[in-house]
Amino acid sequence: MPLNPDQLIRDEIRAIAAYHVPDSSGYVKLDAMENPYPLPDVLRAALSQIAHDAAINRYPDAAATALKARLRSAMDIPDGMEILLGNGSDEIIQILAMAIAKPGATILGLEPSFVMYKMIAAFAGVSYVGVPLRPNFTLDLDATLAAIAEHQPALIFIAYPNNPTGNLFDMTALLRILDAAPGLVVLDEAYHVFALESFMPLLARYPNLLVMRTLSKLGLAGLRLGFLVGSPTWLNELDKLRLPYNVNVLTQQVAEKVLAHVDILEQQAAAIRDERARLMQFLDNVAGVEAFPSAANFILLRVPNADKVFEAMKQRGILIKNLSRAHPQLQNCLRVTVGTPNENDQFLASLTTSL
Ligand code: PMP
Repeated sequence: MPLNPDQLIRDEIRAIAAYHVPDSSGYVKLDAMENPYPLPDVLRAALSQIAHDAAINRYPDAAATALKARLRSAMDIPDGMEILLGNGSDEIIQILAMAIAKPGATILGLEPSFVMYKMIAAFAGVSYVGVPLRPNFTLDLDATLAAIAEHQPALIFIAYPNNPTGNLFDMTALLRILDAAPGLVVLDEAYHVFALESFMPLLARYPNLLVMRTLSKLGLAGLRLGFLVGSPTWLNELDKLRLPYNVNVLTQQVAEKVLAHVDILEQQAAAIRDERARLMQFLDNVAGVEAFPSAANFILLRVPNADKVFEAMKQRGILIKNLSRAHPQLQNCLRVTVGTPNENDQFLASLTTSL
């Protein structure tokens, strides 16, 4: 008898649909919240030099001391707080889930939100509870507090702003959640540079708060670097689960170099915020399109027939994200990443003819 996956692989893993990344070659790529702007030539030349000089025959600095020091200043990390680095923030979500995976432990998330919270809970063998947002995607505080009281989650993930809805949840409601939570609350600020709102200054006041960020949306998605900030009490424990060399030599050195010029990325983010406002203004006047307010570098849209619009736009060479079947509350929803002015013009032209 040949060996089958169902004899070895856990049921909950076989039940998961793999995270699908479509082939995007040849498309105007507006599906993955990337920064569309390349780095300026002077900085690219410096990166060539780094690649030339890097000791890739050696293991990376396991403590990533230089990179952490740079992050501390570039990201206004409060004194006294520790930093944990991940191979993207996805890896940090995984570290957190593994850390709390006692029998019976629960992770709580809001829905719809970033799908990896739920997927990684399954990877780690932890139960997951999703609390629905209201139909307009604002936080349902009463339902969330009730779910916290009922399930006593060891870990709560809240994306701020939320993906895929783009909105920032009400700060006062989130503070109530922090007060009520019996465990850790991770504020996932992946889109911080487009929202300019942060829980980082509140770390000292809420010992159960952890703030997670990534360099991906800032313009370094290919490097894979995420980080978690919080008190050493928690981060020293979490660091034990981090594989010793999870952030490679090139990522460490390139990120350190680029963050020395973080103003360049911040200017690109400002251009993206301007384009977001222009897109919103246009979309608000397109009949049949409901555009949800966004504090991120993408906009969630509801259209009469998302599958039709998505396919027609793809035929025209524009790749966005069809979320119609991702969650019941996202029926007929599409998500578009804000691109360059030219890409956005192409998107708008293609959308209006695809409706
Ligand atoms: N958090 C949120 C809310 C996201 O939307 C994403 C990526 N789409 C991530 C975390 C993961 O980002 P990365 O692994 O690239 O750091």
